[in-house]
Amino acid sequence: RENGDTDVTIEILYCGICHTDLHQAKNDWGITTYPIVPGHEITGIITKVGKQVENFKVGDRAGIGCLAASCLDCEFCKSSQENYCDQLQFTYNGVFWDGSITYGGYSKMIVEKKRYVVHVPESLPMDAAAPLLCAGITVFTPLKDHNLIESPRKKIGVVGLGGLGHVAVKFGKAFGHHVTVISTSPSKEKEARERLGADGFIVSSNPKQMEVCIYLNTLLYKWRYLFI
Ligand SMILES: [Zn+2]
Ligand SMILES: [Zn+2]
Repeated sequence: RENGDTDVTIEILYCGICHTDLHQAKNDWGITTYPIVPGHEITGIITKVGKQVENFKVGDRAGIGCLAASCLDCEFCKSSQENYCDQLQFTYNGVFWDGSITYGGYSKMIVEKKRYVVHVPESLPMDAAAPLLCAGITVFTPLKDHNLIESPRKKIGVVGLGGLGHVAVKFGKAFGHHVTVISTSPSKEKEARERLGADGFIVSSNPKQMEVCIYLNTLLYKWRYLFI
């Protein structure tokens, strides 16, 4: 679509691959409209800004995630829960309010509402920043909601070491926590500990390891109970 008054146009440099893109491309959920252009972990450079855009200028480094637009007026939009807005628009595979089809980041350019564009700081490489816009946000939110951003030295567990899990481990370590990965794949232990810095690794398909884990947790619970 054309760049409107509250839109910015971005020349796309990088786009992460989220598993959702595969589901959408293959119509696994029965909601795909073809032709489809997936991609919702987008970084690039702003090439055009609308008249009512104050916080971005041409040449800025910018990112776009899953959400493309919402009403900005309902109780959810006003409490940072825009994903529950009933007028929510996704970055791709949607029919925009003006009737145009939305296409995602495996492309050269995209037009987006300013509300759903973020600045990418100079200190963050554009390729590494892209996956933070879906996978990153998805695991950042529970850490934030459970007050784990600025209260270090908690023990946290990450179940599964896939696209989201590996970002969760890095966030957990960066925020100063003791991080244990719980995975079905023993082969991922080396990567978890050596590349990502995980402190513990439990194989969930190994009954003995899970038993020890449950036993220790029960002890810890009883111990706490005794001294509270
Ligand atoms: Zn995604
Ligand atoms: Zn809303």
